[in-house]
Amino acid sequence: MPSISLLDLNWAGRPRSIAAILLESDGRHALIDPGPASTLENLRAQLASRGLSIAGLHDVLLTHIHLDHAGATGSLVRENPNLRVYVHRKGAAHLIDPAKLLASAGRLWGPDLPRLFGETLPVPEKNIQLLDGGETLSLGAQKIDVLYTPGHASHHVTYFDPQEGIALAGDTAGIRIENGPYIMPATPPPDIDLALWDDSFDAILDRHPKKLLLTHFGYAENPAEHLGIFRARLHHWAGITERILRSAPDDSTALESFLAETRAEMRQYLSDDAVNQYSFTAGLPLSFLGLARHIRKRDNPAG
Ligand SMILES: [Zn+2]
Repeated sequence: MPSISLLDLNWAGRPRSIAAILLESDGRHALIDPGPASTLENLRAQLASRGLSIAGLHDVLLTHIHLDHAGATGSLVRENPNLRVYVHRKGAAHLIDPAKLLASAGRLWGPDLPRLFGETLPVPEKNIQLLDGGETLSLGAQKIDVLYTPGHASHHVTYFDPQEGIALAGDTAGIRIENGPYIMPATPPPDIDLALWDDSFDAILDRHPKKLLLTHFGYAENPAEHLGIFRARLHHWAGITERILRSAPDDSTALESFLAETRAEMRQYLSDDAVNQYSFTAGLPLSFLGLARHIRKRDNPAG
């Protein structure tokens, strides 16, 4: 009997920020998004509490390669060289050589990078299984369909369990802690593309999922309603960014305006603690940078 369980990685000491997903079927164990290297010991403890170990894992399925989802992968392979790592073709090079990814993350997160994400090790090419979307993976008795869902990242995939009707959506369906009252975009640089993202919502809805499972954090009920609200908010936030970029004298003023406006919006739905939790998990300033980059690129494709 296949089963899906959620492992709380307690990122930076904050529960319900990043989930790793454990799939078990016929004695085969797969992790979807093992999280950052900084939470490796929490992952190990979560596995141990289920009588499992890193050596006992078979597969790692990555929705995308951002450090909060995939940063631990190299460490896992070093400890278990038989692990098979599934990733979309467009993201694989940055797993094999994470130098560019780490340089980009370093520019975005600054001196907080090591504390938040730990040491990101490369993944040997021989462990990597490339995905394009459209595949069906057999993990024990469990079938998992791969949907290509770019928008948040150019190489983002969603894993769909057709038996349970669960879409493991990574960051494609936003941030919503345990089906809470607010769904927040996470739109970091460099890949944000709202047109592609809209198609990805359709790709997920085409499968008529019964539930979404979000990395940040947990199950979301009523996928059609969730994705409808989220799609509208994503475009709303792009509109806020566009307006601010037109009127602000410089980028740092623009960022301050964006943070003030989005946090005020969140406070209509969430407690102050929850606003901080959502903002921290998403890296709210990064969401401004990603949307600003998207808008400038869209308006000036040659530039
Ligand atoms: Zn994420």
